[in-house]
Amino acid sequence: MRIDVDEPDARERFWEGMRDVAHAAARYQDQALYQAIVKIGRAALAQGIELVSSGGLFLQCPVCDALPGQRCINMAGHPLHEQTCHPERVELAAKALSGAAPLPPPLH
Ligand SMILES: [Zn+2]
Repeated sequence: MRIDVDEPDARERFWEGMRDVAHAAARYQDQALYQAIVKIGRAALAQGIELVSSGGLFLQCPVCDALPGQRCINMAGHPLHEQTCHPERVELAAKALSGAAPLPPPLH
């Protein structure tokens, strides 16, 4: 199978895949799957794969408390503007994966 990295949706699809794994991890309470998410996410960032708005889906949102795998919901003072995740959630994902912030539960 050939993977076209220039495909415009490739990044979205990648992070959607991470979301799907997070969904399975939450459903089965599978710590090994959570560790896999962290490993895959770190490798992806190291390879230069950018975090997109859906890139925060694998962890809980610090703003609206959406659970891993769930889209964010609009909150007073924190409108989503058609985005999948609050910017704070995506930022937390980037920081946690890069080691700049501790991994939030249940990822650690
Ligand atoms: Zn949110």
